[in-house]
Amino acid sequence: MKITVIGTGYVGLVTGTCLAETGNQVLCVDIDEEKIKKLKSGIIPIYEPHLDVIFERNQKQGRLKFTTSLQEGVDHGEVIFLALPTPPKEDGSADLKYVLEVSEQIAHLMKSYKIIVSKSTVPVGTVEKITNLIKEITQVPFDVVSNPEFLREGFAVDDFMKPDRVVIGTSSEKAAQIMKDLYKPFVRQGNPILIMDEKSAELTKYAANAFLATKITFMNEIANYCEKVGANVDNVRIGIGLDERIGKRFLFPGVGYGGSCFPKDVKALIQSGQEQNIRFKILEAVEEVNNRQKQVLLDKIEAFFQGNIEGRKFAVWGLSFKPDTDDIREAPSLVIIKSLIERGANVSAYDPEAMNNVRKELGDIIHYAQDMYEALEGSDALIIVTEWNVFRTPDLDKVKSLLKQPIIFDGRNVFDWNDMQGKGFYYFSIGRKAVIPQ
Ligand code: NAD
Repeated sequence: MKITVIGTGYVGLVTGTCLAETGNQVLCVDIDEEKIKKLKSGIIPIYEPHLDVIFERNQKQGRLKFTTSLQEGVDHGEVIFLALPTPPKEDGSADLKYVLEVSEQIAHLMKSYKIIVSKSTVPVGTVEKITNLIKEITQVPFDVVSNPEFLREGFAVDDFMKPDRVVIGTSSEKAAQIMKDLYKPFVRQGNPILIMDEKSAELTKYAANAFLATKITFMNEIANYCEKVGANVDNVRIGIGLDERIGKRFLFPGVGYGGSCFPKDVKALIQSGQEQNIRFKILEAVEEVNNRQKQVLLDKIEAFFQGNIEGRKFAVWGLSFKPDTDDIREAPSLVIIKSLIERGANVSAYDPEAMNNVRKELGDIIHYAQDMYEALEGSDALIIVTEWNVFRTPDLDKVKSLLKQPIIFDGRNVFDWNDMQGKGFYYFSIGRKAVIPQ
């Protein structure tokens, strides 16, 4: 099949590459000329594990191409995916300007039947909006389909190649059949392709993300309570997770969720509800608790140093909003670092993949260490913000010798609490008692 993907970011590039991998002819379009130049010359502008191998293969074999020309894109594909940003507006609602602008341009450019597929996360009613917009401009036949994306950064290739389910929102039988044919190679293990109405498909994405954000946030509140009463959140987590109704995943407490999806999608659903006089009280609380959760490590740091932060140096391990990505959108690390700098502290940071993105955002206000150990040199304490695997089994003797004082604030519980006993560290984590050296 001939496929066009418009927007070549985290979702678009993975979508385009994976669709090329199953034999389709894929043309990816982006307005960012620099990005397209890189992609054409074989450079992937984001960090996403396992993308490189299939990217290279499909580009070499001529199934994966790139352009900045929307006309070329529209001429090429019968199916046109929109993988465009839908950032939050001031009031929290999803900004549809990219999606609507591109849809309007497509309407002017298309000459034959097209299926326009929204992979972007868009509020209920957007497919209808796009349909009405295009209908006003052209007589050429088309269908607009909602096909929300559930991939996780860090596991994006695997998630796309073996999705738990594929959601297709359309009332057109023709479009449904073409979409089913396109996704058939990805569901050979029997996972379902769910065909539903457009609005339900659009809402499925928001409901999924809002639920997951709620699950994490619930656990963060339980963790905070554990600390007050002397319980250990690891035990509670395992104890509840073994109940199949609850499940083991997404129960790890930390310093709050970030990223380009949960924060904005929770906000957008709250806002969409308000338009219908529905108050998502749970989600309002989720948002509030999550914002507060980004402060909990700072509170612990503040308490330990008795408010005396100015002039101190802190090593920060982990900058991306989660491991295995270079994405720093809404990352808790940024909140923590900015707050430390505001209080007059110095920060020396290390992340395996996200340093360049942080440098673009924060410039030279922090030191970017060559490796995780260099970050520790002369620091008053280590702060762990992202649970990259490389941080899980460090040489703790080396850590102790490089730090001015043996103090660790672990925002992701990367170390086993029992293992930290008797190691000579002050060790503060989430939902577990502080470890104090004897
Ligand atoms: P992104 O910012 O990484 O990529 C968007 C791309 O669109 C950029 O490369 C940008 O240059 C390009 N673009 C902007 N305007 C354009 C235009 N007029 N023409 C062509 N290209 C244009 O965004 P993303 O993270 O890939 O997210 C895209 C959508 O997918 C969002 O709605 C998001 O909510 C949703 N989503 C994201 C994820 C994720 O993990 N990142 C997961 C599921 C769904």
